[in-house]
Amino acid sequence: MSTAVVVGSGPNGLAAAIVLARAGLQVTVLEAADEIGGGTRTREAIVPGLLHDQCSAIHPMVVGSPFLRSVDLERYGLTWAWPDIDCVHPLDDGSAGVLHRSVADTAAGLGADGRAWRLLFERPVARYDRMSTDIMRPLLRVPRHPFSLARFGIPALASADLLAAALRTPQARGLFGGVAAHAFHPLNRPLSASIGLGILTAGHTYGWAVAAGGSQRITDAMAALLGDLGGKIETGTPVRSFTDLPAAEVVLWDLAPTAVAEILGDRLPARIGKAFRRFRYGPGAFKVDFAVQDGIPWTARAARRAGTVHLGGTYAEVAATERDIHAGRMPERPFVLVGQQYLADPGRSVGDVHPIWAYAHVPHGYTGDATEAIIAQIERFAPGFRDRVLGVDVRTTTDFTAYNPNYVGGNIMTGAKDIPQLVFGPRKTLQPYDLGLPGHYLCSAATPPGPGAHGMCGANAADRALRRLR
Ligand SMILES: Cc1cc2nc3c(=O)[nH]c(=O)nc-3n(C[C@H](O)[C@H](O)[C@H](O)COP(=O)(O)OP(=O)(O)OC[C@H]3O[C@@H](n4cnc5c(N)ncnc54)[C@H](O)[C@@H]3O)c2cc1C
Repeated sequence: MSTAVVVGSGPNGLAAAIVLARAGLQVTVLEAADEIGGGTRTREAIVPGLLHDQCSAIHPMVVGSPFLRSVDLERYGLTWAWPDIDCVHPLDDGSAGVLHRSVADTAAGLGADGRAWRLLFERPVARYDRMSTDIMRPLLRVPRHPFSLARFGIPALASADLLAAALRTPQARGLFGGVAAHAFHPLNRPLSASIGLGILTAGHTYGWAVAAGGSQRITDAMAALLGDLGGKIETGTPVRSFTDLPAAEVVLWDLAPTAVAEILGDRLPARIGKAFRRFRYGPGAFKVDFAVQDGIPWTARAARRAGTVHLGGTYAEVAATERDIHAGRMPERPFVLVGQQYLADPGRSVGDVHPIWAYAHVPHGYTGDATEAIIAQIERFAPGFRDRVLGVDVRTTTDFTAYNPNYVGGNIMTGAKDIPQLVFGPRKTLQPYDLGLPGHYLCSAATPPGPGAHGMCGANAADRALRRLR
């Protein structure tokens, strides 16, 4: 039986391990931390029993990912739950852009922009399952569904600014801008619309789901499936050098490219080592979890039913904050994402005390304290919020790197999404998973299709490893 080692147990590491074990390999996962899961973990932080997702929380790109659809994680205890409303983008006048799972319902609430929203999303959503097999793998491939992909891909080449200019109402523009900002990238750059369009299309197809009981359940279900397939996981086992690796025919690295370059050193071909050492990381995240009595008193009433709330005001304001953080300047009012997972999954709350997940986009390696800026942004759209806060748990950019070395400088995307890294992955090649060292592959979120708990980087890298092994 062939043997494989996977370094790192994030969703991509576990997905890779499952694909390899399913193909009959004897797989061992080595995880540096004492707990498995990387960016898909949940813990009690402030009040006993109150469950906070440490990283991934909301899963528009995850539920329908080709990997997730290929495994029955429900059998291992994973249940998805959906809030009444997927996402809300409130504005200062009390109005809001409101995103529903249904394109028609969303369009109906967007007034003069309803038609444009339908034009953008109706057809891609109808073809999403076919199209996802193309967009969830390296982009520079002959597409399996060229016509569906073209319908989605042509607008995705544009900047977010250009697409926003086609929308007329501040509500639709804000809603689109908030989702586009998930790219942590200036919204005036070509391709900056692509990540937002991908999230919106996937979300209109599968909804912005949360895992009942917390994102940890995604990890636990994957680990249980891996166990059934004969795979093993060793925690508290950092791989710091090549000699830490047990003998194996296949090694998959669920790590940041710079870490792999450091660990493998001269074993990597010089050009790959050089490219990895030059790999670019984008802006960071500053996270605050809150315990909140009776939830957040949003002025825009739709936000009281939404799993996700994006705080940044108008499209122009969101675009300016993203430009600032990219240039290393901390904005006074940063873009803030708020998660109210408990609305879909009430078991995370303790009585009328609810867990609120929030993070701000901040410059790479930001060393200041953004807690007050996050509270002020929430208070701006929900006066009285501050008085309901019973406790906070703060994670700075430095804390993020300590929690998981893949988040360099607090960059939770495992790499900047500039054009070369978005199009090619960690280096300019048509084989983004290959490390140029026989049997070794990169499988982290630095590879296509990029960040998220969808497991597709791991599944794609494992497929590549299996093809080469055969
Ligand atoms: C605050 C935040 C919010 C997010 N929100 C969402 C969201 O709502 N939805 C979504 O889909 N995604 C979200 N993400 C992104 C998602 O969590 C990541 O993209 C995803 O976890 C990446 O998975 P991965 O397997 O590539 O790596 P990771 O999850 O980063 O896992 C890497 C693993 O490798 C381990 N490791 C590192 N170095 C070593 C070593 N030397 N030896 C052994 N093990 C090592 C780490 O401890 C870690 O367990 C969020 C992330 C953060 C931080």
